[in-house]
Amino acid sequence: MSVTDKATARHAVRLHITGVVQGVGFRPFVYRVAQRHGVAGWVLNAQDGVHVLAEASDDAIARFVDEVRQSPPPAARVATFDVTPAAIAGLVAFEIRESAAAGAPTVRISPDLALCADCLRELFDPSDRRFKYPYINCTNCGPRYSIVYGLPYDRPRTAMRDWPLCEHCSREYADPADRRFHAQPVACSACGPTMRLLAGDDVVTGTGAIEGAAALLARGAIVAVKGIGGYHLACDAANAGSVAAMRERKYRKERPFALMARNLEVARTLVQLDGNAESALTSIERPIVVAPARRPFEGVAPENSDLGVMLAYTPVHHLLFAAGAPDVLVMTSANRSSEPIAYDDREALSSLAGIADAFLVGERPIARRIDDSVVRVVGDARVVLRRARGLAPEAVGTFPTTTPILALGGDLKNALTLVVGGQAFASQHIGDLDHLSARDAFVATVGDLCAMYEVKPEQLTVVHDLHPGYRSTEFARSLPGRRIGVQHHRAHIASVLAERDAWETRVVGFAFDGTGYGDDGSIWGGEVFIGSLAGGLARVGHLRPAPLPGGDAAARFPVQAAAGFLYDLDDGIDFERPPFSFPKRYADARALVKHRVRTFETTSMGRLFDTVAALTGFTREQSFEGQAAMWLEHLARSSGSVAPYVLPYERDQFDFRPMLASVLADRRVGRAPCEIARAFHFAVANAVAAVADAYNADRIVVSGGVFQNALLVDTLVAMLGPRMWFNVKVPPNDGGLSLGQAACALAELK
Ligand SMILES: [Zn+2]
Ligand SMILES: [Zn+2]
Repeated sequence: MSVTDKATARHAVRLHITGVVQGVGFRPFVYRVAQRHGVAGWVLNAQDGVHVLAEASDDAIARFVDEVRQSPPPAARVATFDVTPAAIAGLVAFEIRESAAAGAPTVRISPDLALCADCLRELFDPSDRRFKYPYINCTNCGPRYSIVYGLPYDRPRTAMRDWPLCEHCSREYADPADRRFHAQPVACSACGPTMRLLAGDDVVTGTGAIEGAAALLARGAIVAVKGIGGYHLACDAANAGSVAAMRERKYRKERPFALMARNLEVARTLVQLDGNAESALTSIERPIVVAPARRPFEGVAPENSDLGVMLAYTPVHHLLFAAGAPDVLVMTSANRSSEPIAYDDREALSSLAGIADAFLVGERPIARRIDDSVVRVVGDARVVLRRARGLAPEAVGTFPTTTPILALGGDLKNALTLVVGGQAFASQHIGDLDHLSARDAFVATVGDLCAMYEVKPEQLTVVHDLHPGYRSTEFARSLPGRRIGVQHHRAHIASVLAERDAWETRVVGFAFDGTGYGDDGSIWGGEVFIGSLAGGLARVGHLRPAPLPGGDAAARFPVQAAAGFLYDLDDGIDFERPPFSFPKRYADARALVKHRVRTFETTSMGRLFDTVAALTGFTREQSFEGQAAMWLEHLARSSGSVAPYVLPYERDQFDFRPMLASVLADRRVGRAPCEIARAFHFAVANAVAAVADAYNADRIVVSGGVFQNALLVDTLVAMLGPRMWFNVKVPPNDGGLSLGQAACALAELK
């Protein structure tokens, strides 16, 4: 055989590619690469990923495989890429085959994607057939998870099943050379869903609907806008009257509202953005990015140093801005108080009737509710604070197991994790299970994940928090199969390790938060652990226990926590007088401590932050969870540098008493509250760093709600560098709990 013959001899290979490879334009991409290199064969979506048969000369196959491996479509996330030899079948053309439907689906469904640059151009091109069409999309962009009813991902199993394609759209859908080839949500104004504006008794449809909504926003109205995973309430962020009306009608007193900016230039005027924050803001996930505010917006984020900003990510958002909506909009999840986002049209129209002046309603249904994701940039890491649109249901960890595990998380900021086929899939943020609608969403999401990944409930190992009174624990008891309870703060530390597949790494872990049920039944929240996932995490230290009077209300009223933490220190101080000016609630709570009535022990670091917040001026009720700690951080960030207080660690306990004594003394001699707040933050950071060094572990892990505090985390990063690990893929708050629960349960199963 001559050299030339060898180069042209035909060979065949099979590719098996897994990861986020469906609904992201993978098949047309493979088709186009095959065309380019003269490769025959086929590509198909199966439940275990994308399969390819490629037949050509050796050289052509090598080039083909190389290009498929090196430059997949922008939204694809390849997990594994296997190439195996195959028998030559004598194929002459390359084709896209119909989806096969066999085996368990371990393929990952793509998260929802922001509008791409090509579609954005067409959206504003008067000569394009999708000019101003609010549902424009292609294989590189558009909704995915929010429209999927089942796998594999094909139009009849999506929310687009009721809109048959017109001739033009079907041609694009069927043309492998087209950007819309097999784009399941493809549509145009001739065949697809449309939008309408409901304002009082008026109904406007078509492009007039969006123009009408933009005009209303410009005039200060509150408009409910249907988006990808639910409804938003929108209003002009610069119109203080509109913002105040939104707060009043939504019963949302002070919790920050997210903003949507017309474009990156506008976003730059709102918050301080470095390169990493800008790439987070403009990423295909388009999250809300929390960053230091550059200008105030009355009522948007009261007494907060940060603003949460996102960019337009659906065609509707772009059309609203182009039609004259104000440059910066409040864009907040449409709900009452902290209930889950409204996503069903009828439900939204009735529950938001007293809040929104008008409704911009899209016809395409939403298969499941998904809030906006929230991230904060720490160095070059993108820390997820709320995991939802654009991120869910991507895998967040690899587990060395074939056992399906369902971890149910906690009752606050609930989110689930399903481990199947060795991959940990984290659900979207569900919310607080105190709310009936959140409980409904919780049950629906359990069913959803199990159906999507074809896991039967009786096969599951179910993992729950140790708290016997949690609703999630109660739900676990109702499920068949094996059950494992995991302690709250161990799960926090484990969540960081699971993200990094660090099963053996020996760490010292700091789990600081407000409340979690301890091994001994008391309320923990300032815990130190030593160990590894594989070997177990032993509690070796904690905050000195303090009495906490008055049950659940102690978490809402910082002065009530202060009554417990100050009990040994407050002799002779009249806290009802300046500079403290505590309400009478303090004295009542102190009496409970004195007589040990409705008083429990706690090691909660969150309550220590509340105590210092009370001492520096936050004496009212918190209107949302974590408000006092955020307020204290804001105060600390407004101070110049100061000498830190000392938080000693003796006999395995952080002793807060000397520090609080210093706070009391400083306050009484009139030291600026911002300096006190800053000295406190640095005391906590110093204490963590000192204890971490004393235990001499491979890595230092921090997790728990307290570590949402940017000042604290940034200070620790500066002190400890890459030796310190923190949550990135799942939130440090209870939204990340389920991943850690699953990891602890797996260790127990082994
Ligand atoms: Zn597109
Ligand atoms: Zn069409």
